Amino acid sequence: MPFTPNRKFKQSPRLIVGSEGVHYDMADGSRVLDGIAGLWCVNAGHRNPRISAALKAQIDVLDYASSFQIGHPAAFTLAQRLSEMAPAGMNHVFFTNSGSESVDTALKIALACHRARGNAGRYRLIGRERAYHGVGFGGISVGGIGRQRSTFGPLLNGVDHLPHTHDLARNAFSRGEPGHGIDKADALESLLALHDPSTVAAVIVEPVAGSTGVLPPPRGYLRRLREICDKHGILLIFDEVITGFGRLGTNFAADLFGVTPDLIATAKGLTNGAVPMGAVLMRDEVHDAFMHGSVSAVELSHGYTYSGHPLACAAALATLDAYTQDGLIAQSAALAPYFEECLHALRGLPGVIDIRNLGLLGGVELEAWASGPGMHAQAVAQHCLDNGLLVRPVGETIALSPPFTLERRHVDQIVDTLHAAIKQTVQPASAAA
Ligand code: PMP
Repeated sequence: MPFTPNRKFKQSPRLIVGSEGVHYDMADGSRVLDGIAGLWCVNAGHRNPRISAALKAQIDVLDYASSFQIGHPAAFTLAQRLSEMAPAGMNHVFFTNSGSESVDTALKIALACHRARGNAGRYRLIGRERAYHGVGFGGISVGGIGRQRSTFGPLLNGVDHLPHTHDLARNAFSRGEPGHGIDKADALESLLALHDPSTVAAVIVEPVAGSTGVLPPPRGYLRRLREICDKHGILLIFDEVITGFGRLGTNFAADLFGVTPDLIATAKGLTNGAVPMGAVLMRDEVHDAFMHGSVSAVELSHGYTYSGHPLACAAALATLDAYTQDGLIAQSAALAPYFEECLHALRGLPGVIDIRNLGLLGGVELEAWASGPGMHAQAVAQHCLDNGLLVRPVGETIALSPPFTLERRHVDQIVDTLHAAIKQTVQPASAAA
């Protein structure tokens, strides 16, 4: 099983047998509030009726169509819809089947784009410490999680990393974007001085790092990165696999921060998790770089058997309707202030060393436990699950990313359950001393 202590799981398997709205039904008959929207993806709630109906209708019309040199209309309709939602000037889309594929596709497009412009010397990729960009070789190379890199030996050449932006000393208990740390973006200039900027193809960041602890960017940080990239002709990639499609109350994080990257990697919320699908959105200039060669040549030697799969397209079109026509992105934005207020009420509990939030993303960081890294978060998550709430332990942090269809009473339930779990399981070092 992925990212699972398999031997432990075998001893006490936890199985989900059904879902509805903001809840899961477990095999033992219990009902669990889904505080993480599946795995940061079921934004429109489980078994959203629009999406279920669209999938049932699609399977009886067209089950599969290759998108290699042939197409089907829904993929183009979806691409059109995505470019309407995307920041201005991003009118082109490449379909994948996951976040990992979107990241590797975005990196490959960035490299190929420079080559298509005659700049083969731009080959370096810059990621960031504490970044999660999926599990492809590109993604783990630019990713910044030591354990995920060291397991597999040498990775891509020509990769370097910016420092992460987590700064407990200056920013603990910030609400929304932390006020300190724009200077962390200047590390890009230092890296460029080290490597020669004309060798750098792209910089990739998650606007808000999710799986490494929910880390909103310091105020002004992303804009500064954009400025430095522009100055040196470097493409900027946002990995919006989590932040895309309303998680922050706007279509994309790019909208919230007012920073338009050259490429956006998406997945997860695109189909509400109902069918695997990802998409890379790109600026017109990136697309156009490929369109100058001979007419018969394939412009981009890249793609997947299931790129633009008809079922995934049907799910995605219905999902986008739910976000826009049913007002779910607006609902996400409207609930965020209450979510923030309630989450920060956990401040002061023993062992809680930071609380972070942006939109409907939240993180509660716990003091490290002497018995091992992440043990507090694991224990709290287990306690929550035993008491009807699914949350996600990521390192020392409990991550929250609920469906947008959440009601205030569900937010109360999340915070009450977390409160009890922290009180009963966390053993702060100060108490042990
Ligand atoms: N990028 C980010 C920011 C993610 O959060 C994830 C998944 N958690 C991925 C990429 C990888 O997505 P997938 O698991 O669909 O390959």
